[in-house]
Amino acid sequence: MKAVQRITLASPVLNGNERKYVLDCIDTGWISANGKYVTEFEKQFAEFCGTKHALTCANGTVALHLPLLAYGIGQGDEIIIPTFTYIATANAVKYCGATPVLVDCEKDSWNMDPKKIEEKITSKTKGIIVVHLYGHPADMGPIMEIAKKHNLFVIEDAAEAHGAEYKGQVIGSIGDVATFSFFGNKVISTGEGGMVTTNNSELAERMKLLRGQAMDPHKRYWFNEVGYNYRMTNIQAALGLGQLENIEWHLGQRRRVAAQYIDSLAQYNDLFTLQPEMPWAKHTYWMISILLSDKIKASRDEIMSLLDADGIETRPLFYPMHQMPPYFEEDANYPVADRVSSRGFNIPTNATLTDEEIEYICSRLVFHCRNNL
Ligand SMILES: *Cc1c(COP(=O)(O)O)cnc(C)c1O
Repeated sequence: MKAVQRITLASPVLNGNERKYVLDCIDTGWISANGKYVTEFEKQFAEFCGTKHALTCANGTVALHLPLLAYGIGQGDEIIIPTFTYIATANAVKYCGATPVLVDCEKDSWNMDPKKIEEKITSKTKGIIVVHLYGHPADMGPIMEIAKKHNLFVIEDAAEAHGAEYKGQVIGSIGDVATFSFFGNKVISTGEGGMVTTNNSELAERMKLLRGQAMDPHKRYWFNEVGYNYRMTNIQAALGLGQLENIEWHLGQRRRVAAQYIDSLAQYNDLFTLQPEMPWAKHTYWMISILLSDKIKASRDEIMSLLDADGIETRPLFYPMHQMPPYFEEDANYPVADRVSSRGFNIPTNATLTDEEIEYICSRLVFHCRNNL
């Protein structure tokens, strides 16, 4: 059995009103950072998350920078983040001149381990950024308790977790702020784009101001401070609205794909395991992740090359922050993140994968693993 076409890891599916809304922007000339699609996308995204406010912005990285700026984070401050995340989480902290303080992840969900947070809190700690990795929510209950006890804010980096749920509550409304990305490979996309959600009206006002160069709302072209141009365009929002109208379909397709993978692969847990779905979680399966057992002699990268030769695109799990030059730690002690990162990779998780493609991927994966015992 040979795949005729390469099976891609992730690609956007624009099968709703996206085309119609984008053409409307072009026909009316509303292509820049104002317009009805920006307003409507924000309104509907806030409804989706159950928050008072949702603010569009240029991408998921500046979506993290905005609330940190609004909280006044700067030099000398420390922000707790998981070491096992995409680098944007750490970079946003660095942009403020503050220091990201790293925490290891849990063996089960691979998210920040609540039991390892308190030992990292100092008098300089101002907040926690939680990441819902690969679409699986972090264990928010204990994290919110720790934050409350130490008077810290909580930002949820939900770039990968649109529509995920923690104990029945949609992600985006549990922490003080949540941030989303609409990059091309995310659950829904605007090409590049981001969103910040919050119930805190004062914080929302402050983020809105900073997003628009901090222009005085009562005096046009008057600026009292240095702001940023972090706006999203009406065209991007038009794409986003089309995507959001269909988000239940997108999430449903991911669950269909995930269910078939689990059904076909769960019996091989001597060869590898999947990132599990905790009983209290609704995983969005942004990415299906495989963790190779130590019984397999081949390296993770070797297994990935074999799949590549079969026409199956994969990608390594994130490298933990403490391993890379900008955030390198000499005496790093993050055993769970090190292990998961070195033995894990993502397999295709498109909304459009067919049953046959999924079966093909599963059979090649099992074949290569068995061949390398
Ligand atoms: C994608 C992603 C971001 C950043 O989003 P961009 O839109 O690419 O800037 C931030 N955090 C996590 C965990 C992500 O996966």
